[in-house]
Amino acid sequence: MKILLANPRGFCAGVNMAIECLERALEFFGPPVYVYHEIVHNKHVVNRFVHRGVEFVDSIDEVPEGSPLLYSAHGVSPEIRARSRARKLLAIDATCPLVTKVHLEAIKYAKAGYTIVLIGHEGHDEVIGTMGEAPEQIILVETAEDVQKLEIEDPEKVAYLTQTTLSVDDANVVIAALREKFPSINNPPKDDICYATQNRQGAVRELAARADLVLVLGSQNSSNSRRLAEIALTMGVPSRLIDGVAEIRPEWFDGVETVLITAGASAPEDVVQECVDYLQRTYGASVENAVVREEDVHFPLPKSLRELIAGGEPPATLARS
Ligand code: SF4
Repeated sequence: MKILLANPRGFCAGVNMAIECLERALEFFGPPVYVYHEIVHNKHVVNRFVHRGVEFVDSIDEVPEGSPLLYSAHGVSPEIRARSRARKLLAIDATCPLVTKVHLEAIKYAKAGYTIVLIGHEGHDEVIGTMGEAPEQIILVETAEDVQKLEIEDPEKVAYLTQTTLSVDDANVVIAALREKFPSINNPPKDDICYATQNRQGAVRELAARADLVLVLGSQNSSNSRRLAEIALTMGVPSRLIDGVAEIRPEWFDGVETVLITAGASAPEDVVQECVDYLQRTYGASVENAVVREEDVHFPLPKSLRELIAGGEPPATLARS
């Protein structure tokens, strides 16, 4: 058996920043530190932080007044920010800057009186946060069929934005339908689908044809991980989205000579290595490091956290248990 290890794979700059942000907040404040929703959509990352005293909450009301609260990499709506201010929480914003960019585009178009069509997945944390910037002016679509049903009062004042972790191919189909229906539609100045999503998808697209099976490390609620598994399937190559080695089933490997292994942007490298080790141990697999593109993107920690840490002591106003 041969393993093709896709490169790039795994953690992106936004996930690295969000995780480091939570690490530093935990060191600085001590537990418990609160996070609104999962810091990133990965079971391992979340569970490891839970064991170290991080509390993940789905409602601001669950956070004791005055406590430190991180916003996850997926971003939050202005309503959540207002509610945490009202509760006097010490908010630290770990939103990925590439998500913030989409929020700023939404604000800009909304102020200019545009109707904004957001291409994304209903219920995803990022979509909820972006829509919250201008709920009256943003309409969510997922498919080209949704576009056909759109009725917009002023078709000359329409813009579209996209969730950062979509399938590039699927998004292009929806964008083409939008352009046909609204020929003067405005588009974001730069792609909203982020570099990490595009690069991981590009690597699978380039490498999957050489494989009999694609293993994608990532959680089921990770949008970008799901897209990687779907791309392989659309190329006719069976794929499995798994959280880790414990989910691997031996029958998947009947007749399989080459396995492509990749990982979504929120999946830690150690879970990838555990799968590689398992296949090496069980099938004597060799490993080819298949580099499709190099990445060198880093995001700094949020200014608010850097300033807090530089100040030395946690603010006295914090209600500590
Ligand atoms: Fe940011 Fe893209 Fe990573 Fe999401 S997947 S955190 S948008 S870099």
